[in-house]
Amino acid sequence: MAELLAKIESIITSFSWSQLGFASWFWLSIAIWVLLSFVVGRWAEGRGRNGFLLFFVSLLLSPLIGALLLLALPKNSTLLRDEERLLRSGNHKRCHVCDEIVKANALKCKHCSLIFDQAAVEQQRIEEGHMRRCDSCAEVIKAQAIKCRFCGYLAPLG
Ligand SMILES: [Zn+2]
Ligand SMILES: [Zn+2]
Repeated sequence: MAELLAKIESIITSFSWSQLGFASWFWLSIAIWVLLSFVVGRWAEGRGRNGFLLFFVSLLLSPLIGALLLLALPKNSTLLRDEERLLRSGNHKRCHVCDEIVKANALKCKHCSLIFDQAAVEQQRIEEGHMRRCDSCAEVIKAQAIKCRFCGYLAPLG
């Protein structure tokens, strides 16, 4: 019996993590800590938050606190709002193939190289109220334009 206990004890001792030594443990913890902080930072960026800031908060306090803080904060929709603003301004549109924002008058998507149909682009701009046809030459001009840039026709006031 004593022999068995001694054997078990030797097994436990051989498996003891203390063999790693304090220094190894210390550095391993630091590495995991930094890694988790980094993960929190990346996650923050995915949620439209400042990843660098959240990384530091995690590093200084705890990755757990960083993660909880991130969960407590609502998703930042600034990026989405920027796109929304560009679309509303009428100077940009959304490519229907790649879903990226491109200039409204662009004939080719800079993201996916899709060629937009010029006639369709103009028609859409007219329907959206950003462009109109000149009363004189029927070229497509800006809706607010007072003078046609093609024929020089002055729109009657009122
Ligand atoms: Zn595209
Ligand atoms: Zn004209």
